[in-house]
Amino acid sequence: MHVIVAEKNISARRIAQILAGGKHVTEKKEGGVSTYTFGNTMTIGLRGHVVEVDFEPGYQNWRSEQYTPRSLIDAKTIKVPTEKKIVSLLQKLAKQAERVTIATDFDTEGELIGKEAFDLIRAVNKDVPVDRARFSAITPQEINSAFLRTTGIDFALASAGEARQSIDLMWGASLTRLISLAARRGGQNILSVGRVQTPTLAMIVDREKEIESFVPEKYWQLGLLTRKGDELLETRHANGRFRDKAAAEQARDRTKEPLVVTEVKEGTKADRSPSPFDTTSFIVAAARLGFPAANAMRIAEDLYMNGYISYPRTDNTVYPATLDLDGILQALRRSVFGRDVEWVIANRRPVPTRGKKFSTDHPPIHPTAPATRDALGDNAFALYELVVRRFLATLAPDAQWKTLKILFDAGGEEYTATGGILLVPGWHAVYPFSEAKETLLPAVSVGERLPIRSVTLEEKETQPPARYTQSRLIQRMEELGLGTKSTRHEVLAKLVSRKYVEGNPMRPTLVGRVVTESLEQHADTITKPGMTQALEDHMQQIKESKRTREDVVRESRQMLHAAFDQLEAHERAIGDDILGRTAEELNLGTCPVCGTGTLAIKHMRGQTQFIGCSRYPECTFNIGLPVTQWGWAVRTDEVCKKHHLNSVRLVRKGARPWDIGCPLCHHISSNRESLLEIPSLTPALLATLETRHIYTAADIARSQPEWLATALDLPLDRVAGLVREAEAEIALLKKRSECRKFLRNHLAPRRGRSYATVLKVLKEAGISDIPALARADPAVLKRAGISEEEAKSVIGEARESDAIKSFKKIGIPAPSIKKYHAAGVSSPEDFCTYHPLVLSEKSGVSPDTVYRHADLVCRYLNRPSPKKMTRLQLEKSKKELLTIRGITEPMIIPLLQAGVVGAAGLLDADAQALAAGSGIPVQKIAEIQASVRRKKESSVIQI
Ligand SMILES: [Zn+2]
Ligand SMILES: [Zn+2]
Repeated sequence: MHVIVAEKNISARRIAQILAGGKHVTEKKEGGVSTYTFGNTMTIGLRGHVVEVDFEPGYQNWRSEQYTPRSLIDAKTIKVPTEKKIVSLLQKLAKQAERVTIATDFDTEGELIGKEAFDLIRAVNKDVPVDRARFSAITPQEINSAFLRTTGIDFALASAGEARQSIDLMWGASLTRLISLAARRGGQNILSVGRVQTPTLAMIVDREKEIESFVPEKYWQLGLLTRKGDELLETRHANGRFRDKAAAEQARDRTKEPLVVTEVKEGTKADRSPSPFDTTSFIVAAARLGFPAANAMRIAEDLYMNGYISYPRTDNTVYPATLDLDGILQALRRSVFGRDVEWVIANRRPVPTRGKKFSTDHPPIHPTAPATRDALGDNAFALYELVVRRFLATLAPDAQWKTLKILFDAGGEEYTATGGILLVPGWHAVYPFSEAKETLLPAVSVGERLPIRSVTLEEKETQPPARYTQSRLIQRMEELGLGTKSTRHEVLAKLVSRKYVEGNPMRPTLVGRVVTESLEQHADTITKPGMTQALEDHMQQIKESKRTREDVVRESRQMLHAAFDQLEAHERAIGDDILGRTAEELNLGTCPVCGTGTLAIKHMRGQTQFIGCSRYPECTFNIGLPVTQWGWAVRTDEVCKKHHLNSVRLVRKGARPWDIGCPLCHHISSNRESLLEIPSLTPALLATLETRHIYTAADIARSQPEWLATALDLPLDRVAGLVREAEAEIALLKKRSECRKFLRNHLAPRRGRSYATVLKVLKEAGISDIPALARADPAVLKRAGISEEEAKSVIGEARESDAIKSFKKIGIPAPSIKKYHAAGVSSPEDFCTYHPLVLSEKSGVSPDTVYRHADLVCRYLNRPSPKKMTRLQLEKSKKELLTIRGITEPMIIPLLQAGVVGAAGLLDADAQALAAGSGIPVQKIAEIQASVRRKKESSVIQI
């Protein structure tokens, strides 16, 4: 069998379909991993890297005396499978294979992934021939020709990838551990340091410092408004910016009519078609459409994997001669871009444009197959369209602008106006993503005199340099040789998730800044791009087999040891510096309750976070926050005007941040609704409470009544009433929160249906606890957007949970409750419809225990407890009772339950009491008693 190993499952499937050439492909799943077979060939997809480099066991312990952060530099590494199912299936297939072809992505990372697969195969099969197929697009043409001309694995290229992998691990792990331990940080709070990450962060921090130290300078701009016919025309003073206010004012004062046209300069300007996309220019263009870098790359990779565009990780901006440009145009002709394609074919430039970067690995990003919006969805189609249109633009003619410059004289002061008209639209006709703004000027001739409508002098300020946007930073990283086309966007995403930077354009957070500044001060090699640039050169040398991996890694080790020498000498200072300056990042301001402590965000073990006072336990004021699952709480720069506290924001990877705002405003508003439910709390009283720092029902319940009476200026009995009402409210809130939790656990999330709205609708219908939910009408739930099916299940679950709770309250232990439940008993009332002996049989709980439980339940329900009897007695009574006319099977148990043992017992019983105990109407009981009496009398006569 011929086994083909692709980089991902989706590419394995496409490669099989293409190579099968119309023959049937069979998909088979083994342990969750798919394979695709046709004839004697099978493809299998990896999940990128299926093994990972890690340190030998022992190094995982951060506090180990033996394995210090520095020891990580020289630690031995091992490869650990991360995708065990794929690894084991790959090895199983490798044992039977007659030939293996590695068909992973064609770049350093792909070569390394292929080499990892090769090592796994060789471990189980020493002899099978292994070759390598290389392609830049998953299209029939590329794939077929790649498999006709397979080569060997490029071990030098893979080696370069391995070198980067081990160097990144060694730098990242050892430095992160050293700095985090020094600053006494662990768990979710570690301070990550990385070979590419840290110099990138330093660029963002440095830019922020430039902005802060920027001193704006004032300047003045002089403008003049005139008119030709109906058209208004704005002109500027030829001097541009005036640095000197007096000079600007003089120029303004000298400006006088007549305004005379002194010169009209006409010209043309060529506007060259853009060059083909490489990864960076693609990211920049996608950012203009609103796609963050990491997002754009993820979508581009999907488009590649599905055969719509070529490989999106490329540094090349020159189409190779072998690329079939005509073929691509022909294919796109049948797409929605058909008309634009026809236009390009008709107006095609003699040679396509070319950029400055040229490499031979991959062509620039270009479309490989037509696609529709329906097939791709809006986002993917937007980026696909961008790639298609860019491709068309590179083949379209240059645009031509007609430029016009008019010079004026007004009392000796010179003014100008410039305009431009797109004479030949050229590539702009097919590429609407770059602005082509036209400015029309009225036709004037030299010597013409125009009126002055107004003269304006504007005072302006010079602006600080702009913060980096993601796409700008990626461009800058490329210029500095930081990271690779495949990793740059990931590095930025990492800086955000580590909470080192926020926003786009990016700003450093306090932690990001403190860590960078501390490292800059003590070991600046880590924060400068030089070391990383050197590694890129070394990688190139490994690729060209001029140096070995071991050699490069050894040199990197030496550099890292040197950095450690510097860092360890100042370890204490760095740690204290970071610790001292970052504690501040959690402080929100003075505690409003005690007035002396500081309110700060506290992160506890697990998911808990809240805001508390530094004077705890003397001051117990605190504000609850949502668990960290909803976002990690951080301070923002915004300060509440009323409470002078910094705002709080919850940040979560891959989600929009959740702005809590001023924590006290949030605290007050989130408790207002429940406070207003307290009957005797008027809005006026509520306002008074707020000034006394009473914000919640619990605050009221906890207060000393005497103190509260004075604070609110109320008689003590009214305060006592208020406290009682607050306690009732707290109980209600607790029930509601249980109900909310219950719904979250039992109602699957659905798009367009938030739990908040569901709860609101239910609350309006009077359903705010689980017992009410158990009795709810499914129609009400439907109004809350819950389907009939879901309502049935939720109500069922509520009943069960309600029953479990009442059984627990009654004193029945959980294991028995479970058994009863399995026997069909779902409420205490249900319990009484069964005779204890019957229930014992059904549930497997011993008769004695059931009797004991029945006693408890009946007492709880205020019903007579069933009399104890043996199984034999039970059967006998049943038989006897059934012989009586009027008694039917369903009445037996209630009667037994009510204490009737046989016919005699029935006669003795008081009809009223028996009716109450059994639930059988008193009329019916009287009838039965009469029938028993008749039978008895007739039998007496017979004797
Ligand atoms: Zn306090
Ligand atoms: Zn506030």
